[in-house]
Amino acid sequence: MIGDRSAQEIWEAVLGDLQVQVSKQNYRTWLGKTVGLRFQGNEFVIGVPNTFVAEYLDKKQRSLIEKTLIGLTAGDIQVTFQVDACPQNSLASNSVQKETTRATPPMFNPKYTFSSFIVGNCNQLAHAAALGIAENPGHSYNPLFIYGGVGLGKTHLLHAIGHAALAKHIKVLYVSTERFTNEFIRAIAERKTEEFHNRYRSVDMLLIDDIQFICGKLQTEETFFHTFNELHIADHQLVITSDLPPKSLPLLPKRLRSRFQGGLIVTIEPPDVDTSLGILRTKAEMQGVEIPRDTLAVIAQQPVQGVRQLEGLLNRVIAYARLVRAPVTPELAAKAIEDIASKTPNSTNISPSLVIAAVAGGFGLTSADLKTRRRDKETALARQVAMYLVRQETSCSLAQIGNLLGGRDHSTVIHACDKIGREIDTSPTLRRRIADIRHAAYSKQEASNY
Ligand code: ADP
Ligand code: MG
Repeated sequence: MIGDRSAQEIWEAVLGDLQVQVSKQNYRTWLGKTVGLRFQGNEFVIGVPNTFVAEYLDKKQRSLIEKTLIGLTAGDIQVTFQVDACPQNSLASNSVQKETTRATPPMFNPKYTFSSFIVGNCNQLAHAAALGIAENPGHSYNPLFIYGGVGLGKTHLLHAIGHAALAKHIKVLYVSTERFTNEFIRAIAERKTEEFHNRYRSVDMLLIDDIQFICGKLQTEETFFHTFNELHIADHQLVITSDLPPKSLPLLPKRLRSRFQGGLIVTIEPPDVDTSLGILRTKAEMQGVEIPRDTLAVIAQQPVQGVRQLEGLLNRVIAYARLVRAPVTPELAAKAIEDIASKTPNSTNISPSLVIAAVAGGFGLTSADLKTRRRDKETALARQVAMYLVRQETSCSLAQIGNLLGGRDHSTVIHACDKIGREIDTSPTLRRRIADIRHAAYSKQEASNY
């Protein structure tokens, strides 16, 4: 038997992997609160917070988890999910999770501060604007609207502003749009809308995350609009984040769009290699681990989506080094990363037609358009992106991809994949566009999983 401590260590390594393999939302909902309880014989017991999570993981993610575990431990393993009423208490080794009372979690993540935020060309303006607001709320730009792809630091900046506001004894409230919506719906059901309104309209600063989720929710949008106006008229600061700029949010009502455009709109781009290096160094230090620069460089150069995935890789490398009890060299990092890459090209089993549909949608076309012979610039580009993404995200062969996209031969597919692969390196706009499409495809797939 390997002791409990090892089970948790191994599980942390597995989580590091899984973080890279599944979407953020999926990770947070299903895996975020799990722990490694025991590893005996070939049974690995995972502690989960409730039966609902146990059932979901058992049905939907067992094989992915087992595959990842086997990859790490090189043995035949079966996982069992066990409801563990208070997983945090049974953690032997995880120093990160110190909170013993879960009743009132802090509103702001203690790790998301200005001092732990690395500034580079990609986020300079957003950072400067956020700092400006932290120093002089309500009087600089109102609202501040920060947009950018997944995992690029929007929430981090919101929390950093929040910490600064708290330090100044400003009455500040952070809320995700999802939560705002849920609370509003509950308030209606419980006839407590008055309380709901008062709660949000009585603050000096409102930080609202991921506003894109309000699109299409008419009642929530209406109530948010009024909240916005009341705070805005009183010069109370609003900071809003989104994955897209206001003009590109398809279902955002005009009146909200024009309100948002009345403030300052800034974007965060994916980090360049130098910024990635800086971020990795900070994150490693925060874990108390010293990693040489050349090793960090191996991680920083990986083609990932956003900083969160980069962190996932870092965690994986650290966990891997602990497991094999070896120093963190560039070779070890490359090995730890290569293992993921080779094990997981198709781990989430997204279907090629879903990917194609997402690409078509992202270009304002239909899947059928991509299968035609049309050669106008936009359709041709969309078709090539579709070939590239299907190749990346599924295990389809070149011939299959050619067939799916209107009977092209495999050399056309190779050409498209090479071309897009090169262009992604030089064009941040294309990179962003493809990242968004990929995200859309996985969100759709996830929605269909529930
Ligand atoms: P988003 O809200 O844009 O999806 P997050 O703010 O959740 O992204 O960031 C994802 C992770 O990446 C967090 O752990 C965050 O601390 C980290 N991160 C992103 N950008 C930076 C940065 N510039 N410096 C340090 N950490 C960063
Ligand atoms: Mg966020």
